[in-house]
Amino acid sequence: MNNRELIEKLKTEGILEREEFKCLLGEMTSEDKELLYSCAREIREKHYGKDVYLRGLIEFTNYCRNDCFYCGIRKSNLAADRYRLTKEEILDCTDKGYELGFRTFVLQGGEDMFYSDEDVCDLVSSIKMQHPDCAVTLSIGERSRESYQKYYDAGADRYLLRHETADPVHYARLHPSELSVENRKKCLYDLKEIGYQVGAGIMIGSPYQTDDNVVDDLIFMKELEPHMIGLGPFIPHKDTPFKDEKAGTLEDTLRLLAIVRIMFPHVLLPATTALGTIDPRGREKGILAGANVVMPNLSPKSVRGKYLLYDGKICTGDEAAECRSCMERRMESIGYKVVVSRGDYR
Ligand code: SAH
Repeated sequence: MNNRELIEKLKTEGILEREEFKCLLGEMTSEDKELLYSCAREIREKHYGKDVYLRGLIEFTNYCRNDCFYCGIRKSNLAADRYRLTKEEILDCTDKGYELGFRTFVLQGGEDMFYSDEDVCDLVSSIKMQHPDCAVTLSIGERSRESYQKYYDAGADRYLLRHETADPVHYARLHPSELSVENRKKCLYDLKEIGYQVGAGIMIGSPYQTDDNVVDDLIFMKELEPHMIGLGPFIPHKDTPFKDEKAGTLEDTLRLLAIVRIMFPHVLLPATTALGTIDPRGREKGILAGANVVMPNLSPKSVRGKYLLYDGKICTGDEAAECRSCMERRMESIGYKVVVSRGDYR
């Protein structure tokens, strides 16, 4: 089958054979790439029009008990300047965010056990009390099913937990031995069973990643059927074991965004900050390849420069309002519009 036929098959069946997927991930003419992007755009616009959903990202702690080889806030990085936000600071972010038109708040952090289950529940319920029309998303890593249940009962709506790679061998090359892909996947299934809208995902071009790994990731996600999929390029961080590794490319990230949009027509798919970091118009290009979500930063300016998962992160010197208006202009420049909406899965 040629690429045109493969795209057609992916669209009608939602899945391909391994070798067929590998064709779509391999060499491709620029016409075929354009075909792939325009097919993804068409599906995206059928379900979501030209709307772009906003998620206000609050990076509330950069303490982490884990030591992932790729991540700038891994516990062994003694150069990281650690911080934690207080409840008051976090609620200040959500209040400002609400005024700016955000209706989803994402609390993201390292795996920081300083925040007990009671603390997390208190944060979630306080935000929901202040802003009952907003969704709260958690992205705080692996915790027990009982803890996930408590956060859900306190009002959390969604949970982002990228699986990072579905292949145990690849997983072990990116993480210390205490961490396992089995547990990561179990967390995702638990979250889904509890009732969260869940997000899985990977870094594109992470060290040692092969096309077969990416196919395994697509097959795993087809099985899980997540509501959200986070895909961004891997970018090295200077104080990690992967400091000399190559970053993932714009091209590969756009290709995968488009494939994922065609496979999962309704999925909530962000054009990530990492994509905006490797290319000045990366997020716009991501939207044009099928993405429908952007996640401007709502963290206080004082800590922005400290939540550094990778080098060169954009927007570390801006205020929330600047990020919001910058994003609006960027989306308008490509004929899309950011909307004031929770942006739930349809
Ligand atoms: N502690 C939480 C949040 C992790 S940060 C958790 O475990 O889920 C969110 C995502 O950033 C990670 O899932 C990872 O995919 C991505 N990330 C980390 N380091 C990165 C790097 N060097 N380049 C690109 N993305 C990175």
